[in-house]
Amino acid sequence: MLTLTNVSKRYGDEQRGTLAVKDLTFEIGDNEIVTVVGPSGCGKTTVLKLMAGLLEPTSGTVAVDGEAVSAPPEQIALVFQDYGNSLYPWMRVGANVEFPLRHRVRDKAARAARVDEALSSVGLAGFADRYPWQLSGGMQQRVAIARGLAYQPRILLMDEPFGALDAQTRADLEDLVLRVRDAFGITIVFVTHDIDESVYLADRVLVMGPRPTFIDAELAVDLPSPRDQIETKDLAEFSRVRGEVYRRIRHSSELMRQAGTAPDAAGH
Ligand code: ADP
Ligand code: MG
Repeated sequence: MLTLTNVSKRYGDEQRGTLAVKDLTFEIGDNEIVTVVGPSGCGKTTVLKLMAGLLEPTSGTVAVDGEAVSAPPEQIALVFQDYGNSLYPWMRVGANVEFPLRHRVRDKAARAARVDEALSSVGLAGFADRYPWQLSGGMQQRVAIARGLAYQPRILLMDEPFGALDAQTRADLEDLVLRVRDAFGITIVFVTHDIDESVYLADRVLVMGPRPTFIDAELAVDLPSPRDQIETKDLAEFSRVRGEVYRRIRHSSELMRQAGTAPDAAGH
């Protein structure tokens, strides 16, 4: 349903620009959770922005159900890694979550219910009247996630959404993502630099190679559902996939070092 066909993306001009993505082709099926890992600066965020229609490919096509994505499509929501800049500081938490729904859910009561439900599901019931700046970083990120969930998109793109959270909150939100997928049947593309997380959440892990990025490995994850933070991680299949992802990333980082394109610290 979501397809990239020979997609390339260059920032800047032909001579001095950066070719971030080169000739990338893959598809993501309905209801699938695909996680994406790869060295910092390889082009993961660029790929998500291309999928979300926020960037236009230099060549190639991104399509949803066979239809080329040009403007940001209705059915896609994106949760950025940089949550500090993704909430409107002048709007209360509830209004932030409600804002993208204003055209989607016309009925006011239904919209309010949707907002309440989303805030409760991330553990923020009762915070609707606060301003983002009155919350901790982790809570702000949960608001951004609630906003994505309330929208009930067909495709949810998440860019390292849990990087700044403590381990327990992170585990809870990982389980929330899995439940939401099961409950609403949405398709999720989830970028992370946490290898355990990439395996725990995924039906499939895409390991990206160094810039211009390509798919270095595509690993099917054969773990039973529903997953459990303790039991799933004790399974031999979990260790097997984690080991494979780890080896691939180490290999990519090695290639980047050799090519003199040190993983870029700022751009992960
Ligand atoms: P990742 O998310 O994997 O860390 P990005 O997609 O953010 O990687 O970046 C891929 C490459 O493109 C990096 O070299 C980065 O510096 C460059 N890049 C990203 N955004 C821009 C931009 N707006 N203008 C120019 N170069 C960019
Ligand atoms: Mg990134």
